[in-house]
Amino acid sequence: MRDFSYLRAASADEARQAAVQSGAMLLAGGTTLLDLAKCGVFEPETVIDITHLSGLSDVAVNEAGASIGALAKMEEVEGHPAIRANFPAVSESLWLAASAQLRNMATIGGNLLQRTRCPYFRDPATFPACNKRNPGSGCSAIGGVTRNHAVLGTSAHCIASYPGDLAVALVALDASVKLGGQAIPAEDFFLTPGDRPDRETMIEQGEMITAVTIPASPAAGNSTYLKVRDRQSYEFAAASAAVGLELEADGKTVRDVRVALGGVATKPWRARAVEQTLIGKVLDARTVEKASRLAMEGAVSYGANRYKVELAPRVVARAILKMGGLA
Ligand SMILES: Cc1cc2nc3c(=O)[nH]c(=O)nc-3n(C[C@H](O)[C@H](O)[C@H](O)COP(=O)(O)OP(=O)(O)OC[C@H]3O[C@@H](n4cnc5c(N)ncnc54)[C@H](O)[C@@H]3O)c2cc1C
Ligand code: SF4
Repeated sequence: MRDFSYLRAASADEARQAAVQSGAMLLAGGTTLLDLAKCGVFEPETVIDITHLSGLSDVAVNEAGASIGALAKMEEVEGHPAIRANFPAVSESLWLAASAQLRNMATIGGNLLQRTRCPYFRDPATFPACNKRNPGSGCSAIGGVTRNHAVLGTSAHCIASYPGDLAVALVALDASVKLGGQAIPAEDFFLTPGDRPDRETMIEQGEMITAVTIPASPAAGNSTYLKVRDRQSYEFAAASAAVGLELEADGKTVRDVRVALGGVATKPWRARAVEQTLIGKVLDARTVEKASRLAMEGAVSYGANRYKVELAPRVVARAILKMGGLA
C-alpha cells in the first residue's frame, strides 16, 4: 500500500474543495477504500476524512418520504423503525448485506460507491488487463472465470456486475441520490460500462453524495428484498430482486409494481418490462412466472454465469408472489 497524506476535513465545503485535486479520495467508513488501497487498485495521494462531518448522518421520514444522510451507517438505517415500516425493501437490503461488523462501519454513500467484486479488477499484480481499472488495457474476465459476472448491461469492454444490495432497493423505489443541491434519480446515477467501464456513476471528481431521498408510496410500503447467494451470510448476491407491490381494492389486481434486479447486471437493473406486463393483471402464479421471465430480456451469458439467466426470473417471481400473499 503506497503512502498517502491525510486530511481531516473541517466542513463539507473543505472536503469538496480538497477532493477536486486529482489523486484525492473521500474516506467514509473505509471498508471499500482501504480494502482496494491494500490490493493496489486505489492509489490515493490524499485521503480526505469526512466521517465526523455534522449534518450528513440524519435519517428523516415523513409523509412525503425519507431522506437518509450519506454518512448514516448501514446498521442504523437498517434498524430505523420508520425505514422498516415504510420502506421494508431498503431495510432488508441492508440487513442482507455484508456482516454486522461491516455494517457498523460502512455508510450509505460509501455503499452506493462500492466497486465491483470482479476478481480480475481486484488483482492488478496478476491481471494488468482491466478496462475498468486501466482504460484501454482489455478485459481479463471475458474468456476467463465468469461465475459472478453480469448477464445484463454488459459490453465488449466489461462484464463486471454491480455488487451492492441497497442500490437495487433504491432503484426499485424511485429514489434519488443527492450531490449537494442536485438530485439524480438512482436509476440514472449508475451507468452501464459501454466503452467507458471506468466511469461507473454520474459523480465527478470533487463531488460528494450528501443524502439519498426515497418518495413514499403504497408500493414502497409493501416491498421486499430477496437475495440468493452461495451461503446465508456475508456473501454477495448471485441474484437478487427488490419488489414493491400495490394491489387494487379487490386485493388481487396489480395497481403498481416496481421490480429491480441485483447480482446479474452491470448496474442496479430496473425490470420495466416485468412491471408493464403485470400492471392491471390479476395476480396468480402463472402470470407472475411468465412476466418474470421478461426480466432477462437482452441477457447475454458468458460461460459459467449462464445459471443467472435461469435463476434471476425465479427470484423475481418469488418476491412478487410473496408481496401478493401467494407464497
Ligand atoms: C467482506 C465484505 C463483504 C461485503 N458484502 C457486501 C454485501 O453483501 N452487500 C453489499 O451491498 N456490500 C457488501 N460489502 C461492501 C460494503 O458494504 C462497502 O464496503 C461499504 O458499504 C462501503 O461503505 P464505506 O462507508 O466503508 O465506504 P468507503 O470505503 O469509505 O468509500 C467507498 C468509496 O466511496 C467514496 N465515498 C464514500 N462516501 C462518499 C460520499 N459521501 N460522497 C462521495 N464519495 C464517497 C470513497 O471515496 C470510496 O471511493 C462487503 C464488503 C466486504 C469487505
Ligand atoms: S469484467 Fe470489467 S472489471 Fe472485470 S476484468 Fe473485465 S474490464 Fe475489468
